[in-house]
Amino acid sequence: MDIKDIAVKVTKVPLKKPFKTALRSVYELESIILIIKTKSGLVGYGETAPTFAVTGESKESIIKALDTICENIKGESLYDFNRVMGVVHSSIEKNFSAKSAVEIALYDIFAQNLKTPLYRLLGGSRRDFKTGITISLNDIDTMIQDSIEAQNRGFESLKIKLGDDYREDIQRVIEIKKALHVETSLKLDANQGWSKEECVEFLNSMEKHQIPIELIEQPVKKGDIEGLKYIKARSSIPILADESVFSPMDAVKILEKGAVDFVNIKLDKCGGISNALLIADICKLYGTKCMIGCMLEGAISVGAAAHVASARSDTITMLDLDAPILCKTSSVSGGVKFSGANIELSDGYGLGIGGLKPT
Ligand SMILES: [Mg+2]
Repeated sequence: MDIKDIAVKVTKVPLKKPFKTALRSVYELESIILIIKTKSGLVGYGETAPTFAVTGESKESIIKALDTICENIKGESLYDFNRVMGVVHSSIEKNFSAKSAVEIALYDIFAQNLKTPLYRLLGGSRRDFKTGITISLNDIDTMIQDSIEAQNRGFESLKIKLGDDYREDIQRVIEIKKALHVETSLKLDANQGWSKEECVEFLNSMEKHQIPIELIEQPVKKGDIEGLKYIKARSSIPILADESVFSPMDAVKILEKGAVDFVNIKLDKCGGISNALLIADICKLYGTKCMIGCMLEGAISVGAAAHVASARSDTITMLDLDAPILCKTSSVSGGVKFSGANIELSDGYGLGIGGLKPT
């Protein structure tokens, strides 16, 4: 299981529709795929996406970080898995998206060598999940149309991107809710776009209009833990931390202060599978449930997140792994199957990826 070759490949896949949040607009999914081969002939796949607005990592910085990390792990034996993972994390400061890509490929190989699917190696058994879908931030009519379309495609949970002018956001949600079946669940993501006072006014307005909101995600700036506490003290609508929690220590700090109700785990924020599992375990200690989400990433890394969801299905109760279904095509064959709202883990070894499709 000695690491022999490592290759990096940048792929671009067009999106079905532009993806818009309070932080950015994206028209195609650009992902960086890592292919690691061992002397014994195993091939592991990793992936990350440059989400500069959230992680501060660009395509160039990720490729540079991968160069450094890969230089350090080349020739290492994966029989010494934990030590090699230590090398990955000590090779360079931060650069969590790059580290995540490496971790995913190494876990893929490690599970393949044991002839088991990754989720089973991690102690999971569940293979079928439902994901919600994100509705991009647009003018109200477009958002209503997109929401109806998502509902008609079988999505029971919609995550509405907000964080624009909060008064317009109130109007957006009122109109969207009117257009949907009563049972469609609404999660709202303000992507740090409001002040704490605006958020409280927004949430009060939702209660006044009797619009059931499952949760509000990251309403205020990532470092504003006091702001989250302020909101939590004034509204019964649960708060989900996203940008506020990158690392396991971020999770400890925010949960210790009792500032949020849920934590959104993303591999690209936390540095990969090992820290994602650790964050879920920390949340379990505090009795806090998690969402597992993704950036605009491809089927390899989002698939790896689905394996993590299976491994910690008692704590990770919400999946927001919609990126592969927002794309027109996929750059890989095999692996986790993403079909509408349904996610199905394959019983192939590791991540079960067959290979990369020609681009
Ligand atoms: Mg978010």
